[in-house]
Amino acid sequence: MSSTMIVQLLKRWVAIMSLDIFYKIIIIIYGVFIGSFLNVCIYRIPKKESVVVTRSHCMTCGGQLKWYDLVPVLSFLTLGGKCRYCKTKLSWQYPLVEFANGVGYAAIVIVKGVGIESILYCLCASALLALSVIDWRIYEIPVVFNIFIGILGIIRLLTDYRQWYLYVIGFFAVSSFLYILMIATNGRGMGGGDVKLMAAAGLLIGWKSIILALVLGSILGSIIHLVCMKIKGKDHQLAFGPYLSLGIYISMLCGNEIIQWYLNTFVQR
Ligand SMILES: [Zn+2]
Repeated sequence: MSSTMIVQLLKRWVAIMSLDIFYKIIIIIYGVFIGSFLNVCIYRIPKKESVVVTRSHCMTCGGQLKWYDLVPVLSFLTLGGKCRYCKTKLSWQYPLVEFANGVGYAAIVIVKGVGIESILYCLCASALLALSVIDWRIYEIPVVFNIFIGILGIIRLLTDYRQWYLYVIGFFAVSSFLYILMIATNGRGMGGGDVKLMAAAGLLIGWKSIILALVLGSILGSIIHLVCMKIKGKDHQLAFGPYLSLGIYISMLCGNEIIQWYLNTFVQR
């Protein structure tokens, strides 16, 4: 191999890598800005307010936010976490949700690459993040999020129609089990929102991954719930949505790898 060829190869590699990094940075920025919109959804959807018509305003004094107050994460930091007008402390939830959404997108694109699957998974991750915060606060999952994830699931089924049955089985695999559990326990510990969430997400990620999501969600939920009860020292009501969401997110990221590892390790061939 001549030296000019090596230089040529190196140049091409640098070009591809920088394009790749460029795309990832764009996707993280997208993620952070969509995270900013999620904050609006988190506050307005439970109150049945429009998420697009009214302008963003301070929750305490009603002062309208300028466009430069709406730059995700950075505005919060430059304002020192306080309202420009009344100096009320702003919730850390704003920059956290923006940051988490950006990181959530980045992880999906790094693991899955850029494609239709990643786009659907990113949108689903955003819905999971928003419904988790809402469920955490008010113990309810607004149905609009489950409808949204269900639509993503239908798109997934149509774009991978040769394996349509994986997604249809996914719709029923966990949701029917949780539904029976809900009936049997009279709705204590398990809400209708959780059942619908696992139906919609099952349609998106297929039956193997949704079962894994339930297992992961149950394990994470029990551990974190026990720790919370130890720290707070009282009986804390459990919102299952955030844990199921975390399970779904992990399944989207590396469900196939975890299932493969499990089969190789524990199942005799
Ligand atoms: Zn204010």
